[in-house]
Amino acid sequence: MMETLDIPSGERAIARCAELGRAPYSDMEGGLFRPYLGPAYRATCEKLSQWMAQAGMSTRMDAAGNLVGRYEGLVPNAPVVLLGSHIDSVRDGGFYDGMLGVILSIETVAYFARAGKRFPFALEVIGFGDEEGSRFPTGMLTSHAVAGVLKAPDPAMPDWAGTTTLAGALEGFGLDVGRMHAASRKGDPVVAYVEAHIEQGPALEAEERPLGVVSAIAAQQRYSLVLRGMAGHAGTVAMALRRDALAGAAEIILAAERVGRAGTDGLVATVGSLDVVPGAANVVPGEVVMSLDVRAGTNAARDMAVAEILDIARQICRARGLEIDMTLKQDLDATPCDARLTALMEQAAGSVTGMPAPLLVSGAGHDAMIMAHLVPVSMLFIRCAGGISHNPAEAVTQADTEAALRTMTTFTGLLERHFG
Ligand SMILES: [Zn+2]
Repeated sequence: MMETLDIPSGERAIARCAELGRAPYSDMEGGLFRPYLGPAYRATCEKLSQWMAQAGMSTRMDAAGNLVGRYEGLVPNAPVVLLGSHIDSVRDGGFYDGMLGVILSIETVAYFARAGKRFPFALEVIGFGDEEGSRFPTGMLTSHAVAGVLKAPDPAMPDWAGTTTLAGALEGFGLDVGRMHAASRKGDPVVAYVEAHIEQGPALEAEERPLGVVSAIAAQQRYSLVLRGMAGHAGTVAMALRRDALAGAAEIILAAERVGRAGTDGLVATVGSLDVVPGAANVVPGEVVMSLDVRAGTNAARDMAVAEILDIARQICRARGLEIDMTLKQDLDATPCDARLTALMEQAAGSVTGMPAPLLVSGAGHDAMIMAHLVPVSMLFIRCAGGISHNPAEAVTQADTEAALRTMTTFTGLLERHFG
């Protein structure tokens, strides 16, 4: 029989994230930087392994350098539910991006271990090594390996500091770059991947909700637009005769904003980068290179918005006598979270908080997006102060963390009926 379960506390989870925000768990003075396979990464994996062991898990490092803890199920070789997020952090990042999800996963197992509760599935906690591209010009390298979709990475890929290669960094951990793909869980009885993560946006705060459930990770397209007009003297070229590339770009930026604002399904449209040629105060701008980034919860919503913005851009350029080139730079499909797991997560969050959890589209990419190639995924978002992330000012409240932890434990209980 199961003992009475105590109420899990968010206090320890927050304290642990904060503890891991300093040396030796950070590779920078006065802030947090935890690049994949660096000294701080090693120290962090050792500390996390201790906490996993205390929570009743066996631990190992997989062939891609991810840390994995396992809490056995009722029978050997049971199906596996993976809980986790990423261990690495951007330079001068916050305590909670990625790490809160890892710690909450450990706390979830600790909670059941204290009560001697086992499930018809094993619970594994995975801390991904490279999500951020924190060390190498990659991103989500290690979830690609686990999901079995890793394309052979370049062993000679240098790190940002130019001090070592991917092969060298892995070797320092006793790992072989040629065997990274062996971290794949294809063929293993993994049945779900569940990730809790800070929202990294302001929607939950605006709606005054502690938790949100992710319906999909956004479809994204990024374009580079080049507008060509005619450079000329700012004092002598009459207004009527100008072909000002920057004035055209300004109209396109406002059109993108208008289309984005009118959209639904988590639609967002951004022009974030602008190069003006020649870029002098006394010259009419002859050329502009600008970015356009459009994201939405479905491919269809994104495609419609992109088509509309590009169509308006062509009209603007025609009217202004500008040439325009459009190059697609990035094209990512939307990743829907699993409908049934999402419904269970909504149920869990609703029962813990006493109010419905909003369904959100994640505009940012996550390991869950890659893991969806392997298994059904579900994501829980936790409100963070001001929506701020990738910044030392990242913050969550203890009450919200507690609600997230109780949602994870409740969700795991619901899974027992789902997979039991
Ligand atoms: Zn993250």
